[in-house]
Amino acid sequence: MEAFFSILRYNSAMTTLIKNALVIPMTEREHYEKSDILIKDGKIERIGTIDGKADETIDASSMIALPSFVNAHTHLSMTLMRNYKDTCENLQDWLSEIFPIEDKLCDEDIYWSSLLGSAELIESGCTTFADMYFFAWNTVKAARKAGIRGIIGQTFMGDAEDAEHRIREYEPRLREEIGNDDMFRIDAAVHAIYTSTPDCYAKTAEWAASIGARMNTHIAETRKEVDDSIRKYGKSPVELLDSLGVFSTVPTYGAHCVHLSDNDIDILSSRSVSVVHNPSSNMKLASGAAPIMKMRKKGINIALGTDGASSNNNLSMMKEMNTAALLATLSEMTPSAARPYDILEMATINGARALGLEDRIGTIEPGKDADIVLINTDDVNMTPLNDPFSAVIFSSDRKNIDTVFCKGRKLLEKGNLLTIDKDEAIRKTNERWQDILRR
Ligand SMILES: [Zn+2]
Repeated sequence: MEAFFSILRYNSAMTTLIKNALVIPMTEREHYEKSDILIKDGKIERIGTIDGKADETIDASSMIALPSFVNAHTHLSMTLMRNYKDTCENLQDWLSEIFPIEDKLCDEDIYWSSLLGSAELIESGCTTFADMYFFAWNTVKAARKAGIRGIIGQTFMGDAEDAEHRIREYEPRLREEIGNDDMFRIDAAVHAIYTSTPDCYAKTAEWAASIGARMNTHIAETRKEVDDSIRKYGKSPVELLDSLGVFSTVPTYGAHCVHLSDNDIDILSSRSVSVVHNPSSNMKLASGAAPIMKMRKKGINIALGTDGASSNNNLSMMKEMNTAALLATLSEMTPSAARPYDILEMATINGARALGLEDRIGTIEPGKDADIVLINTDDVNMTPLNDPFSAVIFSSDRKNIDTVFCKGRKLLEKGNLLTIDKDEAIRKTNERWQDILRR
């Protein structure tokens, strides 16, 4: 059966015609048009008025078509720890509950929780994620089963010696699992400056540059992280990473970036570091509000991420976009602080840019991979539609996600997952979690 489906997946002659969608291509500010989209060979072949036959034709006359979302910072398999000990006072206290659990994890735990996480991504219109976690080859396996694309973090904590060990031990396993599959790439994912030494960052930046990877790391998430860094190194986390040559050695995307000085923002801007905004996690752990408006003014590319399901506590990019918009409004005390289109950019093309995938995904235009989400507007919470950008950011939720394509392959149809047995993923994840608690 598997073989049969994989033949279908790679059937290059397959064409899909999406008819009469309200297309938001994300190529031109606040532009949308009623249009058809032809998908061929997994790519967007044409946009416009298209007549003729395709292998499949979808009536999208009540749908908004957007590039499917990019979750630029998550820990997919942390779905395991959803709603677990999440009323801690702050990030450090919460991590002290999480780290002992992580010491007990095994391959099977990561596979099933990653599959569950993949289901949650697809159901919220997301087909690309950047991950940072352990035993990452299981996450590749699960994401491949789901049909989504992943930037897979080879995770580092500790010093340079530990980093060398992890590269030696885990890189071959990860490479073997990925093979020639261009839906996946390895990045260096160094946890943070409070769990990883300066020589770990220097070593992994060099390694990442040597294999064409990027650097994914948490930066300046809490006030405490910044205060400790200044006490220990005489530098802020951003200044420290810059002084180590990380930003000049390897393209970097930093998660959180909540507590930044003007100098930090200048450094991130001049080094072309992308920032991944995680508003739900930052609000939930009382970390603070990232100065995204200030960063935008300095030309910094800002993407969006859910962080893990244990600090959010979900992986819905629909919810994350809504939270990002509301937080920007409240922090700046003006509704025009971030327009709905700005938030959509963060969740699509900016995410693609942060991960170096902007030539392949992030917009709907001919030649790009057909990563497309169709959002149903024929529902109570979307009527009347009026402004489609506001409708997506402020009115819609996961139940409006009707159809999702990744590289032309349909992963969700009328809200139903096509590649994942959802009941099995739920049951297995529950079983794994109960087992972990007994270990
Ligand atoms: Zn994180």
